[in-house]
Amino acid sequence: MVASVDVILTAGRERVLARRHPWLLSGAVARLEGEPAPGAWACVRGAGGEALAWGHYSPRSSLRVRLLHFGKEDPGEELLEVRIEAAVARRRADPQLAGSDAVRLVNAEGDGLPGLVADRYGDVVVWKATSAGMDARRPRIGAALARATGAAVGYERADGAAARREGFAANQGPTWGDFEDAGIDPHAVPVDERGRRFAVDVVDGQKTGFYVDQRDARDLVERVARGRRVLDVFCYTGGFAVAAARGGARSVRAVDASEPALARVGPHVAANAPDCPLEVVRADGFRALRDVARSEAGAFDLVVLDPPPLARHRGDVPRASRAYKDAILHGLRALSRDGLLLAFACSHHVGGDALRRIAAGAAADAGRGVRTLARLAAPADHPVDLAHPEGDYLAGWLLQA
Ligand code: SAH
Repeated sequence: MVASVDVILTAGRERVLARRHPWLLSGAVARLEGEPAPGAWACVRGAGGEALAWGHYSPRSSLRVRLLHFGKEDPGEELLEVRIEAAVARRRADPQLAGSDAVRLVNAEGDGLPGLVADRYGDVVVWKATSAGMDARRPRIGAALARATGAAVGYERADGAAARREGFAANQGPTWGDFEDAGIDPHAVPVDERGRRFAVDVVDGQKTGFYVDQRDARDLVERVARGRRVLDVFCYTGGFAVAAARGGARSVRAVDASEPALARVGPHVAANAPDCPLEVVRADGFRALRDVARSEAGAFDLVVLDPPPLARHRGDVPRASRAYKDAILHGLRALSRDGLLLAFACSHHVGGDALRRIAAGAAADAGRGVRTLARLAAPADHPVDLAHPEGDYLAGWLLQA
């Protein structure tokens, strides 16, 4: 059993809960009663003592309580298992997610489980705790995911930054099952994303191993790629490169800074569309775009820009906006007439509307008329709690120039 604590709000701060935002910030807390241990089950009370909400206590974080439930009655700790079960069942029932065995099963706040993400890759579930509350409940999380999914193997990925921020020891390793017994190489877990086959490294890959959040965008690329010369910048293990090659691209050039990611692009394209001419380039993506704009202007018919998060904090937005704008400007210059540019930003602080304004600035600088053909966001296995706009992080536009 984890400890429990009463978190009493400063008088007048009770109304912060009315919006049902899942984060209670430290500034609203007047005092504590009970045992304020990391991850303690917290009852948030008004200044008059009335119970208002329930969640997980984080003594070191400014997000002092991650709220799981709003109401007078204690929902009980088993809410965790109930929510995990429900999140997995929603994915199973959602026709929008059909055809892929790489799926996000638990999307933190979006599934009423702040501090927890879990992704399914075939018969493997990879999960990550990013709050003291979820860290304190690791055995229960593993058991609940195993029961809800029936997957052969569970594997926990460490999030070092979150562990430091929250003050817990980062954990990584198998949670249940055995890769060897299941006949699965943890560095090459096979997945089939609507016909696109990848081998996911769940031990050393980025995030939990794969960017499942770009599934629908990869579908789009596969649909529009026929006959096009494609440039996939920030390609990771070649998600968009594979989609383009399968869609009949004339050629694909894939660029990333990560050597281990790039090493997988060739095998991935070979496994999906062996006849597509492929060039794999290790380079800084922003510099590569500038070079292409200068020396290969007009040489591509489809450019994908999927950079890493450039604005983790609000203060980063001006610098990030300039970087996005330069990338889009150079991407536009690389395009042939009526070429397509797919531009993403994966920071909550630069949303779809901001990205559109940035792209408009780039189009003006490029001296080209540019149309939007589609607006993109994370797919249905990445639900966002309406009360938690911070969870809305992925924005993209399909542009034609
Ligand atoms: N489009 C990919 C996901 C991209 S994630 C997919 O569909 O799977 C962002 C990628 O940017 C990562 O692979 C990371 O290695 C890469 N990256 C980060 N900084 C970079 C830089 N300065 N230049 C090139 N690549 C970079």
